[in-house]
Amino acid sequence: MESTHRMARVQLNTDANPCLGRVHYAPGKSAWISLMVLGAFIGGALNFSWAALGLFASTSMLTLCLGHSAGMHRRLIHNSFDCPRWLEYLLVYCGTLIGMAGPFSIIETHELRDWAQRQPICHDYFASRQPLLKDAFWILHCDIRLQHSPRVVYEERIWGDRFYHFLEKTRHWQQLPWAILFYALGGWSWVFWGICARVSVCMIGHWLVGYFAHRFGDRTWHIEGAGCQGYNVTALGSLLGLLSVGECWHNNHHAFPDSAQLGLRWAQPDPSWWFICSLKKLGLAWNLQTAANQPPRPERVRLEQPKSQVAFLQQKL
Ligand SMILES: [Zn+2]
Ligand SMILES: [Zn+2]
Repeated sequence: MESTHRMARVQLNTDANPCLGRVHYAPGKSAWISLMVLGAFIGGALNFSWAALGLFASTSMLTLCLGHSAGMHRRLIHNSFDCPRWLEYLLVYCGTLIGMAGPFSIIETHELRDWAQRQPICHDYFASRQPLLKDAFWILHCDIRLQHSPRVVYEERIWGDRFYHFLEKTRHWQQLPWAILFYALGGWSWVFWGICARVSVCMIGHWLVGYFAHRFGDRTWHIEGAGCQGYNVTALGSLLGLLSVGECWHNNHHAFPDSAQLGLRWAQPDPSWWFICSLKKLGLAWNLQTAANQPPRPERVRLEQPKSQVAFLQQKL
């Protein structure tokens, strides 16, 4: 069954193919994460302080929850709620501080991955099918080049925005003002923990949640015709829901991609959804999309018994 989920940004040419392609080493991407991890391990270990650890934990949760999850994922990519433009800028700016991508690169990566996962078969790169370390190397140090890729076209609201182009071009440099401020306030330990350790843990954590969310966990929903299914990762119970700011409820996300709420049951804590709800209470967010108000999708099937299982229903190439 073909996916009926609208993907307005993905422009399909007749020969678009999610299987034929090659994963290639990306030197810039690799150098960036390597630098951050080295700084975290060496600089962080030699310059530990409890205050620096507190800075690491608080800035990680803030940038992950407000920036990456609410700002980039749920607002910018999925348009799952509306908010004032200044607030969107602030949230997307915080998302850029994760150190992974700018506004355009995050949309392009996400749209191509979602499109590929909805096809009956797709390259292992998109479906996290390779063993853990190989997938880590692919996602953190490499890119995929499809022979016949669809084009990702941005709406004018985003493409015409100079601030987003500025953020995209300077995405790595956005760490610099914070590094200077942290150095002034707390010395090198604040730089290694507040920048290097934070960026490393957020990037590696993002990959790890994505890896497990396409392989292990519970499923309430099955998407017919999709070669790659999403899983609600329950490995650490509710704790992972809190640490991943709600992003680990990925079976729900595959079933209701445009919902601003990812945790659909009380046992599925979703801090980013709580944040969006508090924005709504303050009159700063509206038109919240939820699982309940999404249009029907014939390919979305509710499973009789929630399935706890390992992936590899997926067809291999
Ligand atoms: Zn998504
Ligand atoms: Zn997915």
